[in-house]
Formats: sequence, C-alpha cells, structure tokens
Amino acid sequence: MRTISEAGNLAGKKVLVRNDFNITIDDSGKILDDYRIRASLPTIKYLLEQKTKIILSSHFARPEGKVVGEMRLSPVQKRLGELLGIEIKMAPDCIGPEVEKLVNQLKNDEILLLENLRFHPEEEANSDDFAKKLSGLAEVYVNDAFGASHRVHASIVSVTRYLPSFAGLLLQKEFEALSKVLENPERPLTVVIGGAKISTKMKLIEEYLKKADHIILGGALANTVLHAQGIAVGKSLIEEEVIPDLKKLKLTDTKLHIPVDVVASADKTGQAEIKIDPVGRTGEGELILDIGPETEKVFDSVIRASKMVIWNGPMGYFEVDKFSHGTEAMAHSISNCPTCFSIIGGGETTCFVEKFGLIDNFSHVSTGGGAMLEFLAGDKLPGIEALN
Ligand code: ADP
Ligand code: MG
Repeated sequence: MRTISEAGNLAGKKVLVRNDFNITIDDSGKILDDYRIRASLPTIKYLLEQKTKIILSSHFARPEGKVVGEMRLSPVQKRLGELLGIEIKMAPDCIGPEVEKLVNQLKNDEILLLENLRFHPEEEANSDDFAKKLSGLAEVYVNDAFGASHRVHASIVSVTRYLPSFAGLLLQKEFEALSKVLENPERPLTVVIGGAKISTKMKLIEEYLKKADHIILGGALANTVLHAQGIAVGKSLIEEEVIPDLKKLKLTDTKLHIPVDVVASADKTGQAEIKIDPVGRTGEGELILDIGPETEKVFDSVIRASKMVIWNGPMGYFEVDKFSHGTEAMAHSISNCPTCFSIIGGGETTCFVEKFGLIDNFSHVSTGGGAMLEFLAGDKLPGIEALN
C-alpha cells in the first residue's frame, strides 16, 4: 500500500481525499460524535502543509441515491472549519460543472468539501463512469476512509483506476494497528463482542475462537448464544437463523465467556420493574437488556489478565441509562487495564466511550465498524486492495 508520504511533491496539486465523515447527528442536526472528523485532521493538515488544493469527499448516512436535505454534509463543513480554524468551502454536489468551477477556483491551502457521494446511486454501484467524473476533479487521490474501505464503491475502488492513489495517514494508522492484531498479537489476547446482531459478527467469533485466548460475548447477541444453549431468554430478540452455525461452534470452550447474570425488564423504556437475575431465570414476559454485576466482575478479571483487548459492540441497551451500566463497566475495565494494548471500534461503541469522556484512554480507537470487523476476521478490504 503506497502512503501519502510516498506521493512526492504535492505542492499546487489538486488532491481528492475520500474521508469517512459518516458521523452521528441528532434530529436538530447537532453532531453527537465528531470522532471521525477529528481523526481526519492529520491527513488534511499534512496536505495543507504541502500547499495543495484539497477536495474532501464522503458519504453520510443512507440517502439511497437521492438528495436528502437532512443528509447534507453541512454539519461536517461547520465542525471541520471550527477544528481547523479555517473556512471550508462547500460544493452543491460532488460532480458536475458547478463543482468543477469551484475546484478550478481553489487556491493552494484551500479546502472544498464535496456534497454527500451517496446522493448519486452510481457511488454504491461502483460505477466506472461516476468514478471517472469524480477523478476528473483532481490529480491525485488519497483514501483516508478506513470505515468505508470494506465497500466496493466508486469513490473507494473504481476511482483508483484513474488517479495516482495513496493511503492517507488515518488509513495507514488503522492498517498498522489492526495488522498487529492479525499478525503479531500480544497475549493473552481477548476479544469482546457485544451489540445487536450476532449474524454480522459470526465470522469474527469463529476466527477468534481459534486465534484469541479469550472471547467475551455480551449485549443482545449473547442472548442468541444463551438461547442456543437452551437457557431461557424470555422475549429477547433471537436470531434463529444463526443457531445451526452457532451449534457447530464449541460453545463450552473455556475461552468463551458469556453472561452469568443479566438485567431484565418487561420493556425497553426503563419504566417497568428491573430485575437482576442469574441467567436462566428470565421470565417469559421479560427482555434481557444488560449484563449483570457478577458478569461485569467475571469479564473484568479476564480483561485484567490480558495484554491485548479488542472491543466492538455495547454490552446492553445503553441508549437507556438504566441499561448502560454493563457497557460503562466494560469501558472502564478496558481503559483501566494497565497491561492492555486496547483497540475499540464500532459506531455505537465509540459514541458511547466518547460520551463518557473515555475515548483518550484506549490505545487505538478505530473509525471502522464493519471495516474493522472484516479486517480483523482476515478479509481483504477492497479499498485497501485497490491501493496496491
Ligand atoms: P457497534 O455500532 O458498536 O458495532 P452494534 O451496531 O452491533 O454496535 O450494536 C449496537 C446496538 O446494540 C445498540 O443500539 C444497543 O442498544 C444494542 N444492544 C446491545 N445490547 C442490547 C440488548 N441486550 N437489548 C437490546 N439492544 C441491545
Ligand atoms: Mg452500529
């Protein structure tokens, strides 16, 4: 993978950067988690120092090929401008004559942010024609969007056919940190997986049952594992379709740690009665919404004995405070572990640790959710392959 430092003299050149500005905003457009914007700064600052004309591009949310007002990148324009202390120009689209005009007016050290790439269906279709138009704006391409590099999309893959292409500093940093886990992990290596759907994380679980020293499962996905073992989970949502695959795994493996007690309630609001019980006692009318205090202790002791910890996915329905305790405990266990090289990733996971002000306590915070999971499962990421 060629990196931006190998791009030679970039002064005066138009550089198209693919970023991952897929941030979390609330209904009023307020940014809840700007980690991905902050993580993009090193490459942008590097290009500023190199006196280039900087064209930034990103997708945001899922507009599905149409212009959607609430999915414009203006909140990113504003936040990025604040962080850099300079004006960021905003393009009305990501391709077309108006955009070309704005690009041609750019002076060295100026930044133009293109509008949401996914307003065009051609982006997700990896359209060659769209990639050609996009690449026509610039002379050099830099991929700094680790979080989107598992996608075969035009601005990630096809674009590299038309421009000299390099990895940005963020992509390089992610690649180096995560490669360490794949190639040369410190041991004991513990992988903590939580969150919503086990189907999206099965491959990782299978791989790390082989590779890791410990696997910890929490969150809604642990309910499916409990259910597969014949343990009552009440009316918690279960992914029946993965049960056959789960049963092929050695669920009794001593490496595998699953909840021993749980927090359950009749509904998710936090208004109904909340009970803490050993697993197996969940009533038919109850949902498991968090790990219990005994489980927190067990998980904590596994983590404290580790040298490397990877974490993706919350331990419970953390959006309601009463069910966020397990996730908070996990965040503290990992960030307080003196011997651990810690890597975390995932949209909800990073948003959570950011909210609790713990984000600086981890060794590496990946900007990738799906991309991190695929990379760690040993898959080649199309965006990284395209740079080779
Ligand atoms: P990430 O974005 O960090 O990869 P996921 O997208 O896999 O994580 O899952 C996050 C979601 O999982 C959160 O919205 C959280 O509320 C939900 N979740 C975790 N545990 C539970 C649970 N026990 N019951 C319901 N939802 C849960
Ligand atoms: Mg998520």
